[in-house]
Amino acid sequence: MTSREPLDLRAFAIRVGATAAAKGWDQPTWENLPGKLMLVVTEVDEAVESAEAPANQDYDRHFQRTYRWDPSELADIIIRTIDILNTLWPEAWDTALLSHHELQRPFAYTQPPTGIGWSFVRTLSGAMEYWRHSDREMVRKRLQDVVMLARYVALAQGTDLDAALVAKADINDKRPPLHGKKMTLG
Ligand SMILES: [Mg+2]
Repeated sequence: MTSREPLDLRAFAIRVGATAAAKGWDQPTWENLPGKLMLVVTEVDEAVESAEAPANQDYDRHFQRTYRWDPSELADIIIRTIDILNTLWPEAWDTALLSHHELQRPFAYTQPPTGIGWSFVRTLSGAMEYWRHSDREMVRKRLQDVVMLARYVALAQGTDLDAALVAKADINDKRPPLHGKKMTLG
């Protein structure tokens, strides 16, 4: 561990929201939430897929394959999720709850538990279902759960999450508006 100051999650959420707005992305709203949730699912998919790339695999001493989620994809999941949380619930999302600095690694995992990708999908599906029922409080809780799941993956595989978040935000700051994609109709 380093003695570096822990990342201020609320300040970080404001930063990533400002970047997204400056690059031309729609702000999250209650109305466009299903689409925003789907974009979080997309990042979960990228993260799970990244774990299968040869660069993120090795064999431990017992010759079992180990794999790690790419820290930058893990960061994407959190960046998209806290942007939603901080835009829709600027005063009501619990940064203390989501702070990962007090957590110890309580177990001997060296990689994300098998199947945790499903936990993300289930949690995000839950958020979608609560959205359908206009239950804002449960949507907020499910989104906090998404951040906690990502934090859990980072702990299990020994990723420095603060460093990964800042590195990814720095990259996003340098990307062109709308990531250089031309939006055309028809
Ligand atoms: Mg990604």
